[in-house]
Amino acid sequence: MSGNPSGGDPRPYDLIVIGGGMVGAAVAAALAPTPLRVAVVEARPPEGQPARDGRRVSALTAGSVRILRALGVWEQVRGGDTESIQGMVVWDGDHAGTIAFSAEEVGLESLGAMAPNAAIAGALQTATAEAEKVDWYCPAEWTALERGGDRAVLTLTVDGEPRCLSAPLVVGADGRDSALRAEAGIPTVGWSYGQSAVVAEIHPERPHRGRAFQRFLRGGPVALLPLSEGRSSLVWSVPRARAEGLLDLDDDAFADRLQRAFGPELGRLTVGGPRGAFPLRLEHAKRYVDRRVALVGDAAHAVHPLAGLGLNLGLRDAAQLAEVLAEAHLAGEDLGGEAVLGRYQRARRPDNWLVSAYTDGFHRLFANDSRVLGDLRSLGLGLVDRSGPLKKLLMRQGMGVLGAPNRLARGKPLGAG
Ligand SMILES: Cc1cc2nc3c(=O)[nH]c(=O)nc-3n(C[C@H](O)[C@H](O)[C@H](O)COP(=O)(O)OP(=O)(O)OC[C@H]3O[C@@H](n4cnc5c(N)ncnc54)[C@H](O)[C@@H]3O)c2cc1C
Repeated sequence: MSGNPSGGDPRPYDLIVIGGGMVGAAVAAALAPTPLRVAVVEARPPEGQPARDGRRVSALTAGSVRILRALGVWEQVRGGDTESIQGMVVWDGDHAGTIAFSAEEVGLESLGAMAPNAAIAGALQTATAEAEKVDWYCPAEWTALERGGDRAVLTLTVDGEPRCLSAPLVVGADGRDSALRAEAGIPTVGWSYGQSAVVAEIHPERPHRGRAFQRFLRGGPVALLPLSEGRSSLVWSVPRARAEGLLDLDDDAFADRLQRAFGPELGRLTVGGPRGAFPLRLEHAKRYVDRRVALVGDAAHAVHPLAGLGLNLGLRDAAQLAEVLAEAHLAGEDLGGEAVLGRYQRARRPDNWLVSAYTDGFHRLFANDSRVLGDLRSLGLGLVDRSGPLKKLLMRQGMGVLGAPNRLARGKPLGAG
């Protein structure tokens, strides 16, 4: 990964992306075929980045697979350990309501795919490291941001060496606790869910047949998502104190608790690898843009993982921002100007707000003890399950194939004819 050879005048770029995780790297990969020069500033060395955590896998929607294909990295991701998602079964732990979705119902080959975060991040980072107009600064720490009339200047240290970069726009892809967001004074709305998501690889006795399973319990949902060779990926949201207790158990005792929570749907469950726990928060930036600054991914919106949509939303942000910037460049506009940033924000806010609101709503609805609400939940799930059009609408929205998608979401790279 390259650095700035001179410590003198700020090195000029068209765009500086802070955070080279999956979303930041996707912004750089999307712009790689365009004439724009991009700097990616990543704090941690590759092996220490959150996206390289070997325990983490993500459910990618069909829309995200299309974006990754347009970025030229999907074949590499798919060549690793992926599994297509053919269906989804969701049920209420205490009541009878069940809803089932299948790819067939919406006329798609699959609803999406499960892929290791390390493979997605690795493919994007390799593609951009090889790109002529993308420079990586990694591991790097930025220490100051000055936002002037027509450019922003970022001061950083790379391997202890001071560097200075400038660009008309700085993009914050630095995750849920974004330091760039704080520096730009962008407020957020959000709250802790008081839960952690416990993750692990699970080996179920019965075949999952490409289906994702999610059971809603009062303490939080427990999901088993399909992996290759009959394995499943566990995402079990539980009150924070309980998560610590679950991590301390030995594999057999943990499998026993999990079995009681999930039920008999996939037969006997055994644990296949190390466990981890991630504290859950909702965090939504009140605006995604400020003077010479734009936010993407978790820096703009972190959601509860119950719908497996956080990364998918981030990839949609990356695709949208890259398209807006590529078009603005062709039109000779100021990339960090209000008009350009406003177009990005207007395009992404409705989708991100909708998903944040319904994942939060689902969490509250199912975390509630009330018997009346419990009956309504069962009724609601049953009604949606039987209502073809509403169910299809929900599925298409979640998959990111609703509305007028941008160029990358239609599977077309930027910079191509
Ligand atoms: C248990 C769990 C399961 C999930 N499952 C799914 C799923 O199935 N599907 C899905 O779509 N989403 C899922 N998500 C959400 C998804 O993981 C996130 O939305 C996604 O990782 C966000 O990516 P990001 O690149 O925006 O941020 P991050 O992954 O947080 O990356 C931020 C990057 O910025 C770097 N950085 C931070 N600060 C600085 C700094 N000051 N300077 C330079 N670099 C910096 C970090 O090192 C990191 O590399 C899940 C989340 C959890 C917790």
